[in-house]
Amino acid sequence: MPETIFSKILRGEVPCHTVFEDDRVLAFLDIFPLAPGHTLVIPKEPAATLDALSDESAAAVGRVLPRVCRAVMKATGASAYNVLQNNGPDAHQAVFHVHFHVIPKSGAGGLGIVWNAGRLDPAGASSMARAIASAL
Ligand code: AMP
Repeated sequence: MPETIFSKILRGEVPCHTVFEDDRVLAFLDIFPLAPGHTLVIPKEPAATLDALSDESAAAVGRVLPRVCRAVMKATGASAYNVLQNNGPDAHQAVFHVHFHVIPKSGAGGLGIVWNAGRLDPAGASSMARAIASAL
């Protein structure tokens, strides 16, 4: 995996505002927040995208995420938030080390979403579900 700014943060070569750390996970404030309290939760394992992450790191991140969400809400007073996780440049990933954004939603601040929903076609859905299930 190529070197990223998060590798440097994990090695202590670049400073960050840490909010949580254990042996597998680090959480710190995003340097360009969409709202006050915007926090990043990252595994220490150097995986570029979520599909490349080990089960052990995924479990460790999954255990920590709800705690960080509760803490962000308590600290900011927000009662709504988004958890965003981008994979690949086409999906707006800029730092190629797995990370989860915890973004408080308050008024106009926070994550803006354009959600161009389609409609599930029953015929296509069956074969799609089978294709995904057989790839698991
Ligand atoms: P993404 O587009 O999902 O890859 O988001 C990467 C995030 O990392 C952005 O929200 C950046 O603001 C954030 N970021 C980049 N460099 C740093 C840094 N040195 N400290 C904290 N956050 C950073």
